[in-house]
Amino acid sequence: MIEKRPTILVVDDQRINIEILNGALSDDYKILAAMTGEQAIKVACEALPCLILLDVVLPDISGHEVCRALKNNELTKHIPIIFVTAQSRPEDELKGLQLGAVDYFRKPFLVPLIKVRVRNQIELVQKTAALEKLAWIDGLTGISNRRLFDKRYFAACKYALRNKRIISLMLIDIDFFKQYNDHYGHGQGDVVLKRVARALAEGASRPLDFVARYGGEEFVILLTDSCETEGALLAEKVRQKIEELAIPHVKSAVHESLTISVGVTMSPSDGSKFDSKALLEVADNCLYEAKSRGRNTVVSTDLKPQVPK
Ligand code: GH3
Ligand code: MG
Ligand code: MG
Repeated sequence: MIEKRPTILVVDDQRINIEILNGALSDDYKILAAMTGEQAIKVACEALPCLILLDVVLPDISGHEVCRALKNNELTKHIPIIFVTAQSRPEDELKGLQLGAVDYFRKPFLVPLIKVRVRNQIELVQKTAALEKLAWIDGLTGISNRRLFDKRYFAACKYALRNKRIISLMLIDIDFFKQYNDHYGHGQGDVVLKRVARALAEGASRPLDFVARYGGEEFVILLTDSCETEGALLAEKVRQKIEELAIPHVKSAVHESLTISVGVTMSPSDGSKFDSKALLEVADNCLYEAKSRGRNTVVSTDLKPQVPK
């Protein structure tokens, strides 16, 4: 059975407190528990819960230190933390909130009050997640949008530079799409954009493959940690895949059905430094070259090492 309940991590060194919170919340949430600070950090990083209820006094490191560590970790910094503690002075509460906690419950706690405040936080987490999804997804095709590509591309370049790995980049443009719209109508054009997006996503489906709508009728595929030949091979595979969709396009000057042109490049295979903007420009030049060679074509070149000035 797929677990649908949001996960909450309860951190407390007293088993009885964990049991009370578990009893109060387990109907609506999946409860994980930790009894030390180190364990709390480990479980939080592995399970990425929606919310953490965190005691301040723990046997090893304090709840404040746990909070600080989680807020400094890219993976966990977005997880809301609520301190649940017997430290009830206003300055204790201020310290907890200043460390980045979203709320502060004093022990002994009233179970109905905890339930309502936890529910409010979980609703906020769910609304934020839904908004974030909207912000990163292309509304028409349902695949990632340009904004998410920019973010992923930046991270992929950083990773490749730091670890001397190769990234491959493909810019894809539908051929004669203006003529397609003019002949079949904009609505049918939208249907085609969705079909192309789905086919590209199916073609580049390994966990590290990333496909996005780059703009209008252009798409981009990014391969993190690829080998030298992978980009060109995948580009040819997706070119064929689109041809095989056999979407009629009587106004295309190159084929009886809809086709794409692809420009492919990759970062230096010897792991030397490269400029992310230059890599995109090379892919764009390759795409331009594919268009001038007659379309329905893949043109590939690697990024030439930079000549020192
Ligand atoms: P080329 O083979 O050189 O790429 O020519 P093209 O006609 O594909 O390129 P051009 O840049 O001249 O036209 C792109 C067309 O893509 C024009 C625009 O209306 C269409 N387009 C962009 N976004 C959308 C969209 O969201 N839906 C639809 N239906 N059409 C779109
Ligand atoms: Mg275009
Ligand atoms: Mg086009």
